[in-house]
Parts: sequence; structure tokens; C-alpha cells
Amino acid sequence: TCSAEDGQWSKGELQPYGPLPMFPSAQALNYGQAVFEGMKAQRSAKDRIVLFRPDANAGRMAEGAARLSMIPPPPELFVEAVTQTVAANADFVPPQGKGSLYLRPLLVGSGPILGLGPAPSYTLVVYCASVGSYFKGGQLTPIDLLVETRFHRSAPGGMGGTKCAGNYSPVLVTQLAAKKEGYSDVVYLDAKTDTYLEEVSSCNIFAVKGKTIRTPPLQGTILPGVTRRSIIELARSRGYTVEEVPVPVEEAMQADELFTTGTAVVVSPVGSLTYKGGRRQYAEDGQPGSVALELYDQLTGLQQERYPDPFGWVVPVC
Ligand code: PMP
Repeated sequence: TCSAEDGQWSKGELQPYGPLPMFPSAQALNYGQAVFEGMKAQRSAKDRIVLFRPDANAGRMAEGAARLSMIPPPPELFVEAVTQTVAANADFVPPQGKGSLYLRPLLVGSGPILGLGPAPSYTLVVYCASVGSYFKGGQLTPIDLLVETRFHRSAPGGMGGTKCAGNYSPVLVTQLAAKKEGYSDVVYLDAKTDTYLEEVSSCNIFAVKGKTIRTPPLQGTILPGVTRRSIIELARSRGYTVEEVPVPVEEAMQADELFTTGTAVVVSPVGSLTYKGGRRQYAEDGQPGSVALELYDQLTGLQQERYPDPFGWVVPVC
């Protein structure tokens, strides 16, 4: 836990997991000054524990914090807090390839304020838990997605480009309703035209046609995923053409394959997409698409140091 008083961050300290003391008038509880990150520490083939692009998470938190008028922690403090948390919880990092230690850096306006305004003080806390695969059925089991036609997740000029807490509670209704009907998750469409794919509740989305891969562009309405950015570079380095362009839902229905990316989901192949009652089944045999499989292998190989890391993305902790 680290805190900022009068705009100055001080070095944090390790504490056992427990309640965070806060006034009822804490800014975050009343007006929503809260942004967070999701990261993973993994045991690598070199028998050490590594992080993946922690600077990217520090940068994204700082950008989100600025949008919410919060005082972001300096990137070095963020990375040090994450690193210390991992080192202190090294025993909870699963064996290589058997899961990871999920890390949740959370920045809240913790200081009390009654009228609408920025919090007088801030708290950054990093907590963690051992995790396995995100979706039911295991990592590479294709997921069934439903295109949401009632609600939007974000609007132009809104908060979709940040990982603010308030982006997540509005999607629970749609996500839970879809899960009840047997879907794994929901895909949102753009609020302006209801035509283009945006993202899934907690991951970005890609559509493959031949050697061309398309993914929705960053226009402030979707989260700039660290995995999204990495997959774009990895795919290009393997000879794919990657285009950040609006992807109409009808085009996605005709794609060879779809997959989603995120820290939690890694690379998840999509088995089917349902839109207004029509259903596109991508793999008849229930197998993941070959491009998703290739990129999953490349990304996890790099993250677990089974493959060389020409990009300098892997950061050892201990
Ligand atoms: N979109 C949303 C809404 C998310 O919550 C996440 C998970 N952070 C992502 C995309 C993927 O981002 P990343 O690859 O940085 O985990």
C-alpha cells in the first residue's frame, strides 16, 4: 500500500491482505475516482518469476488517472509496488505453465470529500491471487460470444479508453444474462452506429481472414489492451497483415476465425458468434482456430521464457 498526501507520493509498505480503512466520504465510494490494472507474474522456463510489460500498465494507469483528475503514482513507484508484492508472494506463483499470480494494482481517491471535487489524498494498493484459465473448460477451449444489442459499454467522449471501476458494474447485467443462456461472454457494438465490434467485457477482439487480421481501432471507446498491442506486434513479426480498422459485425460473422486477447484470457479462440438470432460457428469440430493457436503459443512462449524475447517485454522479478 502506498499513499499520496498533498500531491506527493511516499514509498509504500507490505501489509497482510485485509480491509482498507476508508471514510464513508471517501471520494472513490461517492464519485468513483478509482482505476485499476490487471497483470500476471509467471514462473518461467529459466526458473525465475517474471512480469510482462509492467511499464505499459503503469502508463495506462497514469492516463486513466489523469482522465479522472487523480494523482497517478510515478511509474517507478508503481513497478516497485508490483515487484515487491510478487517477491513477497513468490510461494503462490504456480509452477511454469500451470497458471500465474494475478496482480491487481488499484488506485483510489481515498481522501474524504463531501462536495464534488478531486480527493485530497490517494491510495495505491496491489493485491494478488493465484489463477488458472479465465473461461470455463480450459485455456484453449473456444468460447461462445453473444453480440449485445440492448446496451452499449461506452460512448464517444466517454470512459471506455480507461480501466476505471465504473466501466465494469454496468456490464454485469448483460454478462450474467448471457451466461445464463450458455454464452461465455458478450461483445459490445459501437454506440454511434450499432454496426462495429468494440470489445468483450474484459478483453479485446480480433477477426482473421486469410493472412489479414483486423481489430477495432483505439478511438477512446475501448481499452488499449497491453495484450492487444503485443499481439499486433507479434502477428506482424510472423508475416500477418494487421489492420486497426472498424470491424462490422457482419464482417466478423464471415471471418475465418475470431479470437480475444487480455491479461486474464491470454489469447482465447472464439467458437461461435451469435448476433440477432443468427449464429456463426467458426470451428465445426470444436477446435481452436489455427491463428489463435499460433499466437497463443508465441505469446505464452515469450511470457514464460520458453522462446527468446526480441521485444524486451519480459521483466524478471526474482
Ligand atoms: N478490454 C477490457 C474492457 C478489459 O477489462 C481488459 C483487461 N484489462 C482488456 C480489454 C484487455 O487488456 P489487457 O490486455 O491489458 O489485459
